[in-house]
Amino acid sequence: MSNKILILGSTGSIGTRTLDVARDFSEHFSVCGLSTYGQLDLLNRQIEEFHPAAINVTNPEKADDARALAERYEIRLTTGQAGLKELITLCEPDIVVTATVGIAGLEPTLFALEQGCDVALANKEVLVTGGALVMKKARKKGVRIRPIDSEHNAVAQCLMGQSLSKLRRIILTASGGPFRKLSKEELGRVTPEQALTHPTWKMGNKITIDSATLMNKGFEVIEGHHLFDLPIDQIEVAIHPQSVIHSLVEFVDGSLLAQLSVTDMYLTIQSALFYPERYENGVKPLDLCSLNALTFEKPDLERFPCLSYAYEAIREGGTATVALNAANEIAVRRFLDKEISFMQIPQIIRGTLDKHKTISDPDLGEILEADRNSRETAKSL
Ligand code: MG
Repeated sequence: MSNKILILGSTGSIGTRTLDVARDFSEHFSVCGLSTYGQLDLLNRQIEEFHPAAINVTNPEKADDARALAERYEIRLTTGQAGLKELITLCEPDIVVTATVGIAGLEPTLFALEQGCDVALANKEVLVTGGALVMKKARKKGVRIRPIDSEHNAVAQCLMGQSLSKLRRIILTASGGPFRKLSKEELGRVTPEQALTHPTWKMGNKITIDSATLMNKGFEVIEGHHLFDLPIDQIEVAIHPQSVIHSLVEFVDGSLLAQLSVTDMYLTIQSALFYPERYENGVKPLDLCSLNALTFEKPDLERFPCLSYAYEAIREGGTATVALNAANEIAVRRFLDKEISFMQIPQIIRGTLDKHKTISDPDLGEILEADRNSRETAKSL
């Protein structure tokens, strides 16, 4: 059986890797739609190879070039953020891969679920900002959220055939980022160029900075809370610099199960698209005997406070995690623009959380409003 997949964010690192999987398993998947923010050259090559029925170009400034592209291939085009929903309607996908960045992925994800599509989710900010709404919608529609985050994908694999009621906790592993060993003073002096060099994974700019501050791991704790319906105190984080174990689960009898592999998102994406089926692929096997050691340590919340802010925000609930995400998006942008230092990223998040007035059980409108307000606060700090 062939599944139709639509990729939101097809020109990013997850999007292109998803197309690698689609190419290798073309008897299982056809690509019905693609979207990019504005990388038209790469989109052009993707259209040529995968023949989608429709595309979206989100950046309004690229609308003219996008029209010329769509005309050349005689395919449908939608533009702007609002056009993402229309893209989903036009393509009628079985699976929508959300590989966009930031809260921008929330509305199209909710819409995809409403249309009865499974969602393979790489865009973790969707669950950070709207996790309760998203999971409720998925349950109501009887569709699945398939995690394309290596940690949650690992947890899902470890939980296959297991009873959730016998789960004691999950342990999300973190590489610790490039600055794991730096002192607070040294952290104050790091540059965006240094922060963009991740030791084990190749990723987009925002998530690479989020990995360096551990905000990424904080988001993953929130993501895990929603995906696996677990209280926050059953989700722990361990720094594991080798990134060989992608996460672990512990059961009530003290048994731990872990998922190990080479660091290649291909495997994670394949697992999400085929879950729970497994197929042979070209991923390099993990050579256990070539590993010197697997080490684990507790995260240092004093040097990396963003992780504790994530726990705090999820305990507060409601729109607190929206404020957390908005403040982080603004702070990361300001750091990349060399307007603030690395250690001012957590300060801006702290300041924004302190000023935020939480609304519990928010609807989409309230989430988007909290997002706008928190961005303004984060810009002013
Ligand atoms: Mg991850």
